[in-house]
Amino acid sequence: MTPPLPDIQPENRPRTTRLAPSPTGDLHLGNVRSLLLGWAIARGQDWRVVLRHEDLDQERSEDGGCEAIESSLAWLGITWDGPALRQSDDLEPYRAAMIHLAEQRRIFASDLSRREIREAAGAPHGKGPVVFPPSLRPKDPSAFLFNDQEGNYRLIVEPGGEQVRDELQGDREFDPSTEVGDMIVWTRNGRPSYQLAVVVDDDRQNVTDVIRGDDLFSSAARQQRLRRDLGMAGSPRWWHLPMVYDQQDRRLSKRDGDAGILALREAGISAERVIGLVAAWAGLIPERRELPASAVPDLADGPAMRRLVDRESRMPCRFTEEDDRWLRNT
Ligand code: GLU
Repeated sequence: MTPPLPDIQPENRPRTTRLAPSPTGDLHLGNVRSLLLGWAIARGQDWRVVLRHEDLDQERSEDGGCEAIESSLAWLGITWDGPALRQSDDLEPYRAAMIHLAEQRRIFASDLSRREIREAAGAPHGKGPVVFPPSLRPKDPSAFLFNDQEGNYRLIVEPGGEQVRDELQGDREFDPSTEVGDMIVWTRNGRPSYQLAVVVDDDRQNVTDVIRGDDLFSSAARQQRLRRDLGMAGSPRWWHLPMVYDQQDRRLSKRDGDAGILALREAGISAERVIGLVAAWAGLIPERRELPASAVPDLADGPAMRRLVDRESRMPCRFTEEDDRWLRNT
């Protein structure tokens, strides 16, 4: 097992977290909870908060999505420092990272389809994630250069556990080689993958603390691998928050259209009601009440966050019909 990367030392960097929404549609209440808690943890300790629009997925990003997110955050009272970064504005930092990886011979071009990869693994009709095995790495040395920027590239992922030290959920170990194998870092759209972009951006935005939903817990291990390969010193501290579920036990997502922030605003619901619901979900207040975002940093201290994780491991948070009625004041 690889020992965890040391934390980035804040000597030269103020503690900084980031809000990193994807403009794939309206923010929903589950997103708001993660964004609010991340923001509140940071503001409660006078850290910086930067905003990054993760808009590289052209198919899923919506026109005007970044503006809509900024407007919803401002309406909620969630603030950020300095100009927001839009990933699609400039691909040069990601290309530079790819060139570095190619120089270290850590990446290779491969246009094998998911089906071909599954077939090679002897499970053409399998479900679940596709694991790219070392046996499919190309033999031709020219595949290890970063020439064709319109092709798929993968990172060589060595076997072995990678330990992730989480401020909220303790240490966990993941083995990216068995979860994804050689992972995609550059796509045939001529754009970096999420994993590469996030690592490059957390570094260039001087992020010392990543606070986000725990659907990305195993990604932290992949991101640590990439950080090692890119020669970055240390790792941000990780804070993975439990997710919110709907009444059918599915993760709250856009499919709960009426739980979207724009729709709630249009229905005349106040930001204080939204914040109050989300704060009650997180156990920061005993029950739902109207609350301005500015009151949350004082509530979201370390013990409160640990209580949240503890409680949710026993009883994950759900968006109920009573919550909906309370929001709408009916
Ligand atoms: N953009 C991702 C999302 O909206 C978050 C990525 C991250 O925090 O690393 O789910």
